[in-house]
Amino acid sequence: MAAIRRIGVKLLPKNDCSEIRFVRDKKERQMKVSSLIFGLYFFAEAHDDEYHPSIRKKGEKIDVTWPLEEEKEDFWRTHGKDRLKKMQQKREIKTKAKNAILFIGDGMGIPSITAGRILAGGENHVSSMESLDFTGLVKTYNVDYQTPDSAGTATAYLTGIKGNYGTVGITAAGRRGDCSSQLGNEVQSVLEKAKAAGKSVGFVTTTYVNHASPSGVFGKSAERTWYSDKRMANLKNCKDLALQLFEHDDIDVIMGGGKEWFVDRLDQRDLIQDWKNEANVTFVENESQLKAAMEDLTLEKRLIGIFANRHMEYEYVREQDAPEEPQLRLMAEAAIKKLSLNPNGFYLFVEGGKIDLAHHDTMPVKNGSLYDWKEFDTMVGNSIQMVDLNETIVMVSADHSHTFSIGAYGCSWRKYFRSWNSTRTRWREYYDLRIREWTRIQHSRERKQSDRRNKLQPTNAKRVQTRVGYLRWKEAFF
Ligand SMILES: [Zn+2]
Repeated sequence: MAAIRRIGVKLLPKNDCSEIRFVRDKKERQMKVSSLIFGLYFFAEAHDDEYHPSIRKKGEKIDVTWPLEEEKEDFWRTHGKDRLKKMQQKREIKTKAKNAILFIGDGMGIPSITAGRILAGGENHVSSMESLDFTGLVKTYNVDYQTPDSAGTATAYLTGIKGNYGTVGITAAGRRGDCSSQLGNEVQSVLEKAKAAGKSVGFVTTTYVNHASPSGVFGKSAERTWYSDKRMANLKNCKDLALQLFEHDDIDVIMGGGKEWFVDRLDQRDLIQDWKNEANVTFVENESQLKAAMEDLTLEKRLIGIFANRHMEYEYVREQDAPEEPQLRLMAEAAIKKLSLNPNGFYLFVEGGKIDLAHHDTMPVKNGSLYDWKEFDTMVGNSIQMVDLNETIVMVSADHSHTFSIGAYGCSWRKYFRSWNSTRTRWREYYDLRIREWTRIQHSRERKQSDRRNKLQPTNAKRVQTRVGYLRWKEAFF
């Protein structure tokens, strides 16, 4: 019993809101945490009914940590009226937009937004993306897959045509990995149409510039992972996504990572050097160069920034591990400044790509999604300030949700955050959200097959069936 209690306390530390105590009591209801992983059972102390336990000790007095005004009826009546007034002030603008910006938080499902918002400022915090006038829901799937990927969804939201899983910029007549099937099935993107209409165009991402989502603005490929010609041996009729981007020489702004795909190539070309050699390109590789370039922007000169060999760093560790990389907000600012020089208007696509990647690795907090979400949201707020909303249509969306959910009964944010006196406490308390991420087991077999077909290293093959928040607790504490 002592051992179990000790482990219980370690994994689910007490906090002063809930006093969650895990005690062994055979008569109480069981809470099976993860017998597969730990081979242990924990038993929750339940006072009320089994689905809605009171997690406080009986008779326990707790400190009031919420503003006392929130206990009064008036507070909520006024709050409701204010919200209603704001809704009534919304204006529907019926004139044609001159500029358009699409912000995509990759894999940013509703639980990611909820958890990100709480991290940023608590349950009642209004994030920048939530401050926009209208909200809706989007249904996402690929023609051949119930759960879509970023390539198939990029095809959908950037071209208006639904495609297949793992393919980008082509209709569903194209088959993943089959070069010949893509030929003749390419579709035009909104960026390409905006360019044809005389607007300036560009995109910004925190992933490779030729990763799945940004590829949707310029790429046509039966396989999202044809990043360089090394990845597609003997497929002479199709071009890799780095070369496609390089040859798409009318994109005014390109920013993100992925240098490797442009220099480590079968065709021996150094596309980065080629960009640097071009007279109408300002090429930058780090934050200071970008800042300098921002002082000297012209309509004619393209602005290209490739800031990392592969993906750019997670926001949580960026300053420490990659201090030369610009923040997403700076890249977006530079892009808007540059694109706004065109009197005909512009189209900009900005992706917070690492929200998704961290979720793939079941890293919602540490190194992960929520800090990238926070930066993404800040960037959205800053960007909105830079444009005239009377002539600019701004959309914020995810491309799909992710394997991330918030469950159980967590205490409200104030309880956790008021006493953030150390990183350790912070992790510990924040994790009381009972964050869980589930790997997509139904995909693992198919993924392995497709990875073999493309001669890639399987990335998800080693995952166990369910990895829940408890494992992440372990990661955070020990
Ligand atoms: Zn995605």
